[in-house]
Parts: sequence; C-alpha cells; structure tokens
Amino acid sequence: MSTAATSHLLPVFARVDLAFERGEGVWLYGTDGERYLDFTSGVAVNALGHAHPHLVAALQAQAAKLWHMSNLFRSPDGEKVAARLCEASFADLVFFANSGAEAMEAAIKLTRKFHAAGGHPERYRIITFEGAFHGRTLATLAAGGQEKYLEGFGPRVEGFDQVPLGDLEATKRAIGPHTAGILIEAVQGEGGVRSAPLSFFKALRQLCDEHGLLLVFDEVQTGMGRTGELFAYKWTGVTPDVMALAKALGGGFPVGACLATAHAAAGMTAGSHGSTFGGNPLAMAAAGAVLDVMLAPGFLDHVRRMSLVLKQKLAAVVDRYPDVLSEVRGEGLLIGLKAVVPAGDLVTALRGQKLLTVGAGDNVVRLLPPLIVTEAEIEEGVARLERACATLSEDHAGQKARS
Ligand SMILES: *Cc1c(COP(=O)(O)O)cnc(C)c1O
Repeated sequence: MSTAATSHLLPVFARVDLAFERGEGVWLYGTDGERYLDFTSGVAVNALGHAHPHLVAALQAQAAKLWHMSNLFRSPDGEKVAARLCEASFADLVFFANSGAEAMEAAIKLTRKFHAAGGHPERYRIITFEGAFHGRTLATLAAGGQEKYLEGFGPRVEGFDQVPLGDLEATKRAIGPHTAGILIEAVQGEGGVRSAPLSFFKALRQLCDEHGLLLVFDEVQTGMGRTGELFAYKWTGVTPDVMALAKALGGGFPVGACLATAHAAAGMTAGSHGSTFGGNPLAMAAAGAVLDVMLAPGFLDHVRRMSLVLKQKLAAVVDRYPDVLSEVRGEGLLIGLKAVVPAGDLVTALRGQKLLTVGAGDNVVRLLPPLIVTEAEIEEGVARLERACATLSEDHAGQKARS
C-alpha cells in the first residue's frame, strides 16, 4: 500500500523534491510549471541536450524495427558503432555494456585476463588514485577506494592499490610482481574536477611500457566530447591500452563500452565475458546517432569555443565574489567551481535561480551544460550564477556581522 507521500523507491538517493515532465535542448520543464536551465546534463549524459531531433528520430525508427535479439547472433549495428569508435580512437576492439560501472568491470577483467593469458595469472592488481570514482559495483567500488561507499558491504574485492593522484614516487613504489595495470581518469569528475599534470600521464605511460602493464583510462565522464576532444586522453598526449565509456555515449540511452587494443584484449575469447542487453539495437541506434552529431565537422570546435567563453565569464564571477567562489577548473565543458561556502549551499542557491548544477568532491560545484549550449545560454547561466552568488555573499556577510 502506498500513500501519495511515500515512495516505494529504495531510498539510496538524496533526491531533490523536484520533477520534470519534458526537456528541450538545454531546458527542462518542471511539474511545478517552471523552466530550468540544465547545467547537469543528467550528470554528463545528455550531451546533445534534451529531445535532440536526430536522436529522437533514430530511436523512434529503431523502436519500430527491432529492440533486442541478444548476443547469440551477429550485430551489424554494433559492428558499425564499434568500427566508428575504433576509427576515432586508439582502439581495435569494443565490448558494449549498459553502464559506466559495467564498462569498467569489463576493463578490469580484460586487464587481469591479459596477464593470465600471457602466463602470469599472479599479475592481477591494479593501481588506482585517491579521489577516483569508477562505479558502484563491488569491484569498481574497491577500485575507487572510497570508504564511505565501501562500508557495510563486506570484504572488499581484492586487487587494488591506491596512491595519491599525481604522486609518481608512490606509483613506482606500488608496482610489484602482482601488478597488472594502472587505472586513471583523465579528469576526476566525481572527485571534484581534478586532474594530474600532463607530465604525470607521460610518466605513467612510460612506467606501463617498462613494466609490461596496461594503462586503463576511465573516460566514462570525460569521453564523448565533454572535454572538447572526443576522448580526453587526447589532451594528455598519451594513448591508453584500454578505455571505458558510458554516460554521453547514448545521449541518455543507457549504454557503456570498453575499448581496447587487440594486444590488450588478447585474453578475451568466446565465453570469457558477456552481457544480455549489451549493445542491443536500441542502444546502438542511440550511440550511432550521437556519433553522427559529434563527428560532424565543427562540433568539437563549438565545444572548445563555448568552454573558453564559459571559463572567462566564470573567472570574472570568481573575482567579484571571492567570499563565495575561489577557483574555476576543468577542461571543455566539464567545469568545476571550487566554492568557499559549502558547495551544497551553492547548488541550492543556483536551483533557486532555476539553474541546475551538480556537486562533486573537494567542495566543488560541477557545471556540465549540454555540449550544444549556445553563447546566449551560457550568458543566461552566468547571470543566474551571479544572482546566486549575490544572495550567498549577503548571507555570508550577514552571518559574519551577527557572529
Ligand atoms: C559515472 C561514472 C562511473 C559509473 O557509471 P555508472 O553508469 O553510474 O555505472 C564510472 N566512472 C566514472 C569516471 C564516472 O563518472
């Protein structure tokens, strides 16, 4: 039995009391009759905004033809999307999953299997970095190493060694006879839009080559145009052996992917991994349509241009409200605002101005506008940020005066 006031959804999310009935581009229309500027993109998922006509048409056309037929049979649509992802990246082979955590699970399994198939099953450990987030399955939680998420769920999955982000000496010390690979996010999203210096990525690549390790990039959040390149590893100047994608890959349709070189994937043979839904025709129609838009000439240029515009305007706001904000960071349209006030208060104040944003670690507020955002929409967003900062700045001053 339920009443209007109770929900039968498992209460694992601290949900805001706000619901939406429709979206269009960067706008979301609430059941409260208000219009919200969406700078969350469903946490970096709706990269092409809401109800993008090309995605809607692709999914509607596929929905009338074939939804699902399992991986018992050939997948011409999957082959096409995989070929395009490989053409646009370092990879030779793709495994399709349904989420970021699943794409990461495939990456972890592939990394272990690479060494087992090469005669070294004892090499299964993976080095990860503090502040990382790789998903909520048991293995990806162990990889992320965040105590607050691991507590209460029994013994943690073995085989992850965590070191501070950017600490090369600690990384070297962590490498031993059991090490299989190194796993890193090009930019830590959940961790607070933090990145290691480029020299660190270069050093990791060298370490992997010296020790025969696989370099694995978690690009679940950074991939698919978010940073102004189709994949963020292109900024780092190094090429990984394995890469996980999800979030924006389907533009809102759940799909993930693990990409790898043929060399790295050598251990993965028939029966070594699987998924019932992974890469089904609906998911492939969505991913194919996303690629149509993102690979069109000028798309990534637009993202980079909007990034510059947004960052410049944000820097001016940070200058004006040093008691609210202290820093703008990030790449492309994965932007972090380091807050002086509690980041949660800023997210709430922004929502009061009908601008939706998402918090992250390190007291950061993430701005993740759809990549199709225009300069006018950015101006609108920044104006709303200014208004929110003004209210917080007054609150702040008031509190100080009272105390
Ligand atoms: C969101 C995210 C994941 C997990 O993706 P899910 O689809 O929620 O399982 C993994 N890694 C990174 C970097 C992410 O941002």
